[in-house]
Formats: sequence, C-alpha cells, structure tokens
Amino acid sequence: MQTIYDLNMKMMEDMLKEHGQKSYRAKQLFSWLYRKRVDDFALMSDLPAALTSKLKEEYSMAPLKELTRQVAHDGTTKYLFEMQDGSSVEAVLMHFHFGDSLCVSSQVGCNMGCTFCASGLLKKQRDLTAGEMVGEVLYVQKELDKTGGRVDNIVIMGTGEPFDNYDNVIRFCEIINSDLGLAIGARHITISTCGVVPRIYDFAAGHYQYNLAISLHAPNNELRAKLMPIDRAYDLNELMTALKQYSEGNHRRLTFEYILLHGVNDSDDCAVQLADLIRGMNAYVNLIPYNEVDENGYHTTDDKKALHFYDVLMKHGVKATLRSKHGDDIDAACGQLRAKHEMGKA
Ligand code: SAH
Repeated sequence: MQTIYDLNMKMMEDMLKEHGQKSYRAKQLFSWLYRKRVDDFALMSDLPAALTSKLKEEYSMAPLKELTRQVAHDGTTKYLFEMQDGSSVEAVLMHFHFGDSLCVSSQVGCNMGCTFCASGLLKKQRDLTAGEMVGEVLYVQKELDKTGGRVDNIVIMGTGEPFDNYDNVIRFCEIINSDLGLAIGARHITISTCGVVPRIYDFAAGHYQYNLAISLHAPNNELRAKLMPIDRAYDLNELMTALKQYSEGNHRRLTFEYILLHGVNDSDDCAVQLADLIRGMNAYVNLIPYNEVDENGYHTTDDKKALHFYDVLMKHGVKATLRSKHGDDIDAACGQLRAKHEMGKA
C-alpha cells in the first residue's frame, strides 16, 4: 500500500479532488501529517469522517520502524530503520552550533562503486520512495519533539546516489520544504551527487533552491577514474561544464567535497590542480577527513597535512573549509554507513 507521505501538495490536491473535495482539504491534511504530526487518520477532526475512513483504506500512515539506535560521544545519533518490505536504511542526526542536521539515505545500497566508500559494499537493492525518505525525517522530528527540538537541516548524503533516484529525491525535497508542513528551508537542504551529469542539467533546468554539493575527490580524470567509476561515464570536463552552467545560470554557490586520502590525492600538486580546476567559480571546497573503512586500505591524511592542503588552496585563490568529524566512533561518519544489517542477511 502506498504511504500518504509519498504525496506532495499537488498530488494531495489531485487525490482529494478525485474524492470530491475542495483543495483546502489538502492543506488541512498536510498540516495534520507534518505540523500536528498525528499518525492516525481518525484523529484528523476537521476532515469529514467519510473521507478519513476512505483514506485509511487507501493509504498507509505506518512510520518507519526503528531497529537500532547508536549514540556517539558527541551526541551524533545513527538510526537503523526498517521499511515495509523488510529492507533497512540508516539516517544520522548531527548537532551543530547552527542547528541539528539529519543525513538521509536515498537508496538501499549503492551502485556508484566509489572505492573508498563503505555504502557501496552492498549493491543497490532498490530506490527509496519519497515517502520513505520523508519517513526518515518525520521519525527523527517526532523524537526531537519530545524535547522541543527541530530538524533544521537535511543533507542527502547517506547511503545511495540521490541523482540515481532523481524524481523521488526531488519530490521528497518538495514535501519537507513545504511551508504548510515541516517547512525546512530550501537553502537548508543539500543534495550531494558523485556527478551524474544529465541530472545536473535537469536540476539546473528546475531552478530549485536546494543546495548542490559535488563529490569531487580528485582534480584530474586519471586519478578520479581510479577512485570513482562515475568518472568513466561522465568525465571531469563534462562535469565542470554542467556545473558552470548550473551555477552561473542559477546564481548558486557550489560545494565541492574532497576527501583527503593519505598519499593518494593530498599532494601539493593535487591542491594546485584542484585550485586551477575551480578558481573563478562561485564555489568552495569542503575538505573532508577520511573515515577509514576496514575493507579498502585507504588512510586518513593527518591534520597537519590537511591544513597545509587547505593553505595551498587558499593561496591559489580557492575558498575551503575543513570538515569536522561526527559520530566516527559508531561508524556513522560519511562513507561508513554500510547497512551491516542488510549485509548480514545477504
Ligand atoms: N552518493 C552521493 C551522496 C553520498 S556520499 C555522493 O557521492 O555525493 C556523501 C559524501 O561522503 C560524499 O562526498 C562521499 O564521497 C563521502 N564519503 C564516502 N566515503 C567516505 C569516507 N569513508 N570518509 C569520508 N567521506 C566519505
């Protein structure tokens, strides 16, 4: 059965119209789901009883089921959720001085095959529906409701490639962004892609206000193709052309994510090449300390070297930040989501 969380406002209006209802009913329904956050149609007291019982027959309101929860020393919390078909995904809540951020998964497993990442150890089993991604946010928001907290920011950086599940991801963003619901501001939602070029053009054409982050990780094709198979499908030249069009056409600043891998992509030469690649663009580089994954033999660049890499970028005219680690003691940091649960079953 389809979940009601799968419907954006327009779809809800259309669905209710089919039930002979006026469009303001959609706003009421949306508000029950995402503002009052009730989980029973029967409690929606300003909707006609005949309608709520019909909705109950047609749509599920079942929340995701929490299988486990791990809390790291810094308060980062990793949830493992089970979906209706029995498969599971992780979401990670992080606390920052600027608010709480939830890292959401977009697929069960991932087919992108980045050699440094644990998430791809399990091949893609399926895409998440928009409703399932909404379910991740709603579950955590309901937990935060107990202490008056709020999910302020969403990063679609969990397991999966969001631009390999484009339509569902965009609809998910619309649902959580709607000011009649959770009202998470578009500029507080970040989609991260490894570089699926055709979808970057789609995203540019949509003129969305969500932030776009690009997992770059190497400044030339030779190295990037070794780390990220996607580079063989869409090389750096094609990627940068698409990104320039998006950034200039939409007046949006881009974030380039760059993991520092000891002895692989952290040389001065790489820093200079990276600066040459993106200088002049409305963009900055987010340098990410690598979280080691047992299976693949890559190592973290030490702090001193990371700072030096940062300095070289800045000296060559490119803005950068050094990301702090969150939740690494519970394997909840970037690239460590691996659905151990799923793999245990396989
Ligand atoms: N598929 C999307 C989103 C998921 S990955 C993408 O590639 O952007 C989110 C970020 O974590 C990406 O930049 C990814 O390259 C990075 N990442 C993957 N494994 C990592 C690891 N072990 N340590 C640090 N970052 C990692």
